[in-house]
This record gives sequence, C-alpha cells and structure tokens, in this order.
Amino acid sequence: MNRVILVRYGELSTKKGNRNFFVKTLTQNIEHKLNKFNVNIKKDLGRMYIYFEDKDLNEITSTLKNIFGIQMYHIAYIADTNTQDITKNVLSILNDISFKTFKVEVKRSDKSFEYDSPAFCKVLGSSILRSINNISVDVHNPEILVTVEVRQKESFIYLNSFKGAGGYPVGSQPRGLLMLSGGIDSPVAGYLALKRGIKVDCVYFEAIPHTSLEAREKVISLVKKMVNYTDNINLHIVNFTKIQEEIYKKCDHDYVITIMRRMMYRIMDMLCNKYNSYVIINGESIGQVASQTLVSMNTINSVTNIPVIRPVACLDKLEIIDIAKKIDTYDISILPYEDCCTVFVPKHPVINPDKERCIKMEEKFDYYPMLEEAVKNIQTIKITDVEDINELL
Ligand code: ATP
Ligand code: MG
Repeated sequence: MNRVILVRYGELSTKKGNRNFFVKTLTQNIEHKLNKFNVNIKKDLGRMYIYFEDKDLNEITSTLKNIFGIQMYHIAYIADTNTQDITKNVLSILNDISFKTFKVEVKRSDKSFEYDSPAFCKVLGSSILRSINNISVDVHNPEILVTVEVRQKESFIYLNSFKGAGGYPVGSQPRGLLMLSGGIDSPVAGYLALKRGIKVDCVYFEAIPHTSLEAREKVISLVKKMVNYTDNINLHIVNFTKIQEEIYKKCDHDYVITIMRRMMYRIMDMLCNKYNSYVIINGESIGQVASQTLVSMNTINSVTNIPVIRPVACLDKLEIIDIAKKIDTYDISILPYEDCCTVFVPKHPVINPDKERCIKMEEKFDYYPMLEEAVKNIQTIKITDVEDINELL
C-alpha cells in the first residue's frame, strides 16, 4: 500500500493576507530539510502532501518534528476513490493490528461520491464488524479511530495524528539578533524566537583572556543545537575585553554590570543596523538577577529604540530548564566555562540603578570609538544545518 504524509498548517491557514507567503516559506523550509530524501511534495489550500520512500519514514518524521509552522501531520494510506478500494485498504490496515473497540470517521470533500459521510461511515463500520471477530464500535472512547478522507482523485486512510512543532515557519518574519551567552536561558529564548518565525542570528560577547576559548566553543555548540530548527545561523563574536576593562577601571563597582549591559545593548543596536535586523532577543528573565529587575531592565534598555524581545521573561527557571532539556541545550549550558558577565561580576551589584548616574559614569570615558572598533572587528561564523561546512566569514 502506498502512503503519504499529510501536513496540516493549523494557525497558519487562518492568516488571510499573508497565507500564501507563510505556506511558501513553510514549503521551502520543508523542502530544504528533506533535501536528502527522495520525496515529492505537493500542496493545496489547507495542507501539504509528502510522498516518500518507505525506508525513510522514521527519519523524515523526526525531521518534521523540528519544523515550525507544522501543526499536525498524519501518515496516511492512499486508496482509489471508490467504495471497494477504500474498504479493502481499511480492512487490510486493521487486520495488521489488534484492538477491541473502534470508530470510523469520514470526511468527504468529493461531493460526487456515492455515499454521504454518515452513510459511508455505516458502510465501512459494518464491513469492519463483519470481517474482524470480537470487536465493537465505541463512538465515545474508541481504541482505534479510523479516519477516511474521501477526495476526488485519491482517498486517505489514517489511524493516528502526530503533533507538529507549531509556531510559524522560520523566515516568515525578518531577521532578529539573539544575545547568546553560554547560559541556560538564551538558547531557550532563541528557540522560542525561531518558533515565532524570526530568522535568528546570534551575538556572543567574549572577553579573552578573561574568558576562555572553551567558552566560545560552548556557544558554538549551542548554535549547532539551535540550527536544527532553521537552515543556518550566523554567530557574530564581539571582542568586548577593552570595553569591559575600561568600565571596570572607570565606574563604581556596584554599577559595572549595569554599564556593561548598556554597552552591550548599544553594540546590539549598531549590529541590528549593520545586519538588517529588526529586533534584539535575549534570555533575560524578570527578577532572576540584579540586572534583570524591572528598574534595571528599564535603565539598560533606554540606550536603544530597537524593540527587545525577552521570550523567557515570565517563565520560572524550572520551566526554562524543561525547554532547555527538550531542545538538548541544557547539558551544554551547564558546562562550567565562565563568560564575560560572570568574570566581572561585583559582590553587590545595584538592584535599582539610576539612569542619570549611569550617564555620569559613562561620561568619564570615550566609549563610542571602542564600540565602533568592536563592531568593526567582529568575527562571524556561519553555522549551517549540514555538518562540516561551517565557515568563518
Ligand atoms: P543565560 O541567561 O543565557 O542563562 P546567564 O544567566 O549567564 O545566561 P545573564 O547574566 O542572566 O546570563 O544575562 C542575561 C542575558 O543577557 C542572557 O540570557 C543573554 O541573552 C545576554 N548575555 C549575557 N551575557 C552575554 C554574552 N557574553 N554574550 C551575549 N549575550 C549575553
Ligand atoms: Mg540568565
């Protein structure tokens, strides 16, 4: 029996104006991810059909699970649209499994078919009861739900529905820049931003020799996990050493984290302009540390007009950890290499930093040329979902 994967877009198909664009983006993403398989992809208004070779089914379905924009999919058997062929196929599928109760559901889009849906349900139900012993119909809580979709050219029969990744296809929104540290929160924030369709690139601030090359490798490993959900991610590495040392020399120690983060945001603002990005994304979570109180966020955020999205702002740490485990970044994130925030952290960072005081301290050194230099000397690594062709740009 031939099979096909039926892909449902869910939320996507309700987007009136943008629908074609969304579906086109999703199709491209699916085609890209299934590139190595011999598949034939067709689409109509509400869904997509993936014709595949049997040997590839498991690998294809585990790939589909990571593609945003897919709400649900079914692995369906294909029958000719006539009563005999559909009945024959239904019986042959059910003969291979054991069950006690079942229900048949018919969805008929071919209005010229000889039965309407309730009548065809009855026809199929009685054929099943006649052919298989010791089973009964249970319309409320059946062990097996046989869904039959009667369409003009071919009909589909399936027993299961599999949940897709949900969200919107990556690329259905423009670029956004994720501040990626080696911690637990920022890769989760990146994953959630990808899920909203944002084409995410990453920025990592490093302070060599205060931070190690292992810390950088850790960030690269995190990007490699995130790239499972998209085709490629640019990782921009900013050398932050000089700026950080200067802040440490010139500013009150309880303010160094606040000022450092204001400098990071200023660089992010410049990078958004440079790389055509519309939003800054980070892993800040309200109240998690001194720099993430609402007053701190306000003082830090005031250096840029670019929207800042904090996908994990309202999640508990344990909720963030659950997602980190699901996307397989947790074990990398808990490796002990220090990043530039942890190296310079003061004993008592200010919890409610005052904007005016920040400005006064920042006037003590000529930071702008340093920011420009950091942006000019940025290193970019393009990390793709195909192993071994990651390149230094
Ligand atoms: P995470 O929040 O990812 O677990 P963290 O807790 O070490 O890491 P915080 O000090 O909480 O990081 O910083 C809050 C956010 O600021 C991070 O989630 C990340 O988005 C950004 N950030 C912090 N340090 C860096 C860095 N070195 N490079 C890029 N972004 C950073
Ligand atoms: Mg954090």
